[in-house]
Amino acid sequence: MLRDELKGELVLPSDPGYPLAKQLQNTEYDTITPHGIAYCESVDDVLACVRHARETGIATHVRGAGHSFNGWSTGTGLVIDLSRMNHAVADGHTVRIGAGIQSLDALDTLKPLGRQIITGTFPTVSQGGFLTGGGLGWQTRKFGVGSDRIVSARVVLADGRTVRASADEHPDLYWALRGGGGGNFGIVTEFELRPVDAPRLIGFETLWPHEDAADVLAAWQAWAAEGSDDLGTSLVVLPGIFGPGGKPVIKIWGVHHGAPEDLERALDELTERTGTKPLHREVGAPGLYADVMHEALCGAKTVQQCHRTGTHPDAVGHRHPYTRQTYRLTDRPVTRAEADALLQAWNPDLDNERYLLCIALGGAANRVGRAETAYVHRDAQFLTGFQIATRDEEAAVQGPAELDAWADRCGAALAPLATGSYINFPNSRVPAEWESDHYAENAARLRAVKRAYDPDGFFRHGQSIGGAAAVG
Ligand SMILES: Cc1cc2nc3c(=O)[nH]c(=O)nc-3n(C[C@H](O)[C@H](O)[C@H](O)COP(=O)(O)OP(=O)(O)OC[C@H]3O[C@@H](n4cnc5c(N)ncnc54)[C@H](O)[C@@H]3O)c2cc1C
Repeated sequence: MLRDELKGELVLPSDPGYPLAKQLQNTEYDTITPHGIAYCESVDDVLACVRHARETGIATHVRGAGHSFNGWSTGTGLVIDLSRMNHAVADGHTVRIGAGIQSLDALDTLKPLGRQIITGTFPTVSQGGFLTGGGLGWQTRKFGVGSDRIVSARVVLADGRTVRASADEHPDLYWALRGGGGGNFGIVTEFELRPVDAPRLIGFETLWPHEDAADVLAAWQAWAAEGSDDLGTSLVVLPGIFGPGGKPVIKIWGVHHGAPEDLERALDELTERTGTKPLHREVGAPGLYADVMHEALCGAKTVQQCHRTGTHPDAVGHRHPYTRQTYRLTDRPVTRAEADALLQAWNPDLDNERYLLCIALGGAANRVGRAETAYVHRDAQFLTGFQIATRDEEAAVQGPAELDAWADRCGAALAPLATGSYINFPNSRVPAEWESDHYAENAARLRAVKRAYDPDGFFRHGQSIGGAAAVG
């Protein structure tokens, strides 16, 4: 019995905790009924799950914190959950973290150690999924892609071996784990990372009128692309349901790693470039990395409260409703006309919950060669995309066609600007050329690593490397 072999917990459909245990971040996947969910607490637990799956022929689904947009961490087989493998310790010049640790827990645990790691802009994403896909956010320009800081990874392979992948040991696997995508080559149980020295940061937030959206979007992209690496910033077009006075609004926010006067000057410059005045401008006090990031990710919520509802007694973190999304990477700021086309695709006349979101990239991330790690997009300046959601549960079960149609129209508007796609922000509709879009010239090497480490496709999901061809 698998249950008897685990130090952690096995939750089966007959157990009262099952409805909660099978949840991902997005409610869309609540209809999927896994064979069981194994909360692993040790490498031996992970090994027991792999052995069990091998012996019984059951499929496996590797799960960190369940934020996969396309539901790749669940299915009808055994969910191997890493969320309890969430330690973070300083070890000389490096930091060792359990692969299931979530951004907010990593920030909090490392705070007293004066060390930090790169996280994205959402509190509960796990490092396992974040790093194996690349790892982008407000630290990208200053410190590079998150996975560029992996020194080594402890990995449970499909054949039941445990290996350490580093520059000297299993170098091909080490290369593939840095941006080749999660759930492909093995189960990472621990990362050794080159940390950042927890600099002081300043958070900021501005709001802009929707009437000037095209000017603001074009100006923001030029400002960010030409700005200092100290700047980490995102832009989102919010629908009327979230805007002041029921009107759509543009939010530009982020963090700055420099002096307060440098940030103030940069924000003045942004105002000048947009040719309009912000509705609101707020700059925080300089603070410790963990504190400023905590406030940006969780607001006034405590660490416990900030977790996803149901995963901790105090947790009140929200889940995401049924969503359709299309995201691409772009390598230059948009022109005014291109910004206008993107905003027309977003469609100001709709009243659905929908977003146009951009994260500024570039900087240190682009000073690494395209083939140095599996993350190939070293010319990307922006991650830009569209998301539309419905909270109508009945409609969601039908898979509303108008949401697909909207995402398709937005995808078509983005296509002329796109230089590739980021595996951690996959489109909900998978294009035929998805592999080259995500990996470009690195795809062939990734397929070779897959054949070497998982020849019979034990680890697979909707967009795993090589698909059926590699596993046949
Ligand atoms: C609201 C939201 C905000 C986001 N913000 C950002 C952001 O700012 N920056 C960014 O870069 N990304 C962001 N993402 C994308 C996120 O990085 C990916 O979805 C990531 O893969 C999620 O990891 P997870 O472990 O939480 O999710 P899961 O669904 O558990 O896992 C995602 C994938 O990784 C695999 N995986 C997970 N853990 C491991 C492991 N230990 N070993 C091997 N494979 C593993 C899974 O099998 C699956 O294929 C965001 C996603 C959401 C939903």
